[in-house]
Amino acid sequence: MEFEPVIGLEVHAQLKTKTKIFCACSTLFGAPPNTHTCPVCLGMPGVLPVLNKKVVEYTLRMAVATNCKIAAESRFARKNYFYPDLPKGYQISQYELPIAEHGYVDIEVNGAQKRIGITRIHMEEDAGKLSHDPDRPISMVDYNRTGVPLIEIVSEPDIRSAEEAGAYLRQLRSIVRYLEICDGNLEQGSFRCDANVSIRPLGNEKLGIRTELKNLNSFRHVEKALHYEIDRQREVLLDGGQVVQETRLWNPDAGRTFSMRGKEEAHDYRYFPDPDLLPLVIDSSWIQRVKANLPELPDHKKERFMTQYNLPGYDAGLLTADRDLADYFESCVEQFPHPKQVSNWIMGSLLGLLNAADISIGDSPVSAADLARLLTLMDEGTISSKIAKTVFDEMAQTGKPPSQIVEEKGLVQITDTDAIDAVIAGVISNNPKEVEAYRNGKTKLMGFFVGQVMRETRGKANPKLVNDILRKKLEA
Ligand SMILES: [Zn+2]
Repeated sequence: MEFEPVIGLEVHAQLKTKTKIFCACSTLFGAPPNTHTCPVCLGMPGVLPVLNKKVVEYTLRMAVATNCKIAAESRFARKNYFYPDLPKGYQISQYELPIAEHGYVDIEVNGAQKRIGITRIHMEEDAGKLSHDPDRPISMVDYNRTGVPLIEIVSEPDIRSAEEAGAYLRQLRSIVRYLEICDGNLEQGSFRCDANVSIRPLGNEKLGIRTELKNLNSFRHVEKALHYEIDRQREVLLDGGQVVQETRLWNPDAGRTFSMRGKEEAHDYRYFPDPDLLPLVIDSSWIQRVKANLPELPDHKKERFMTQYNLPGYDAGLLTADRDLADYFESCVEQFPHPKQVSNWIMGSLLGLLNAADISIGDSPVSAADLARLLTLMDEGTISSKIAKTVFDEMAQTGKPPSQIVEEKGLVQITDTDAIDAVIAGVISNNPKEVEAYRNGKTKLMGFFVGQVMRETRGKANPKLVNDILRKKLEA
């Protein structure tokens, strides 16, 4: 029997505001435990929350960028449950009247476009952080994160595979980073994802029983966990069993999911409107302002790169996935107007370098201006393309400008015909057997001769001149 997975994702993105959602405490990551707290975020009696306007502004940006309908009036609600990292005994979230609903984003998987619906986006506060001592029966709680603003982005169950889930998450992350509302850092937990997964016989409309997966803190883990869970549910059903509705934890080391707890329903939380916070009213002029100030988003930038720079879709998609990388490309092209060549160098040498060192484009040791200068040196014939790779590696290690490296190391290309002539004459007289074979029709030996000349000149001879002169002499 064929089954079809049905997947919906809940993404929590931490907003990059300076202060928390309902108090003036700092949101800075990495401070000593419990130093960014006050009576409001510690949930002392008698305190009153005051909504941070920036949180609403950032949420509106995301809502507009994902084509959502924005509610003229929305409400905050209390989600009641006890947990040691939640000092009030409830979390302030939004429930019946969220700020935004009915949006979508477009994704691309294996060249095919697909639209994923967004059910809702709402604002809420984060909880604190527990750490458990492995040696003693002690747990510690840090309330610095309590009250840090989050948006939760809930997708429709439109996703049909682990690959689509990965593409959707990458697209959302790209958008929040373009909007500069969230740093999208999965390791530090500022961009997190839970997945609801069920499967149903292919062609069936009725949804199967779902499980919720937690602890998916990298894109790779999301895809692996979904593959695992889809297979697990399929086996349960094929064995004649039933999937149990529950929350399951992904364990990356074991490569499988484990049952964590029975899945709670919304009514278990006894939501009710928070009496301490007024209804949130958003006038249309605010939404218009947000729309007018939105940056160019990844989809549009990709299309513009394809038309303006005549780049293939693959190049444009890769270069625009990250806003800083797109800016780097454009700054480089401004100084060296050969877009495809710039794109090749960025996708090959530069991204190879950044990935190997595990650093972002912002920390690249090779600036856009220096890459443009390197490509100019090559274009003018000062250095060969082979030498350019060597110079690039040296730039990556030392941060020196390319012209200085070329000068210091004496890498200027030999374009003097007489000098190349002399080297070629030597190569021909040293390899009589190969010369004879070539003249008898074994023209594949051309590569051998070019290699010999390049070795003699340590890669500095102009390859085009070498080829031309060699051919002339061999075929004379
Ligand atoms: Zn506070």
